[in-house]
Amino acid sequence: EIYPGFAATDVLFNDVGAVIGVATCDMGIENNGELGANYTRGMELLCKYVLIGEGERGSLAKQLIAKLDLQKDREPQKFCIGIKELWQVNPENHRP
Ligand SMILES: Cc1cc2nc3c(=O)[nH]c(=O)nc-3n(C[C@H](O)[C@H](O)[C@H](O)COP(=O)(O)OP(=O)(O)OC[C@H]3O[C@@H](n4cnc5c(N)ncnc54)[C@H](O)[C@@H]3O)c2cc1C
Repeated sequence: EIYPGFAATDVLFNDVGAVIGVATCDMGIENNGELGANYTRGMELLCKYVLIGEGERGSLAKQLIAKLDLQKDREPQKFCIGIKELWQVNPENHRP
């Protein structure tokens, strides 16, 4: 089952601290924070196996890193800008 349009906002844990799923966000909250006519409570998606694939700096990954202390004794995450292509341009055709 694929649920497009929903962000998972929370990791769900069982009584012994094992990850058992994720919860999606509530929807239909007005700009002023009040519940609108279309308010829909988020859903709990429970599963036997939870794979977090949010890309780098994911919000659920941050929750897991903090709660399970995954960064302990580890190198910090590193990000960089890479250059894929270098062009050699005649100086008369180029203005910095
Ligand atoms: C400009 C740019 C150029 C790149 N060029 C290359 C290249 O040429 N070659 C190469 O090998 N790599 C390249 N990369 C790196 C490559 O894109 C990433 O390494 C790769 O996409 C990471 O895959 P991923 O599945 O971990 O995360 P992503 O591709 O980031 O996928 C994560 C997905 O999860 C969704 N998501 C995140 N949080 C939630 C949530 N809480 N609930 C629901 N959904 C969520 C996001 O919307 C996204 O669709 C490039 C990256 C960038 C930014």
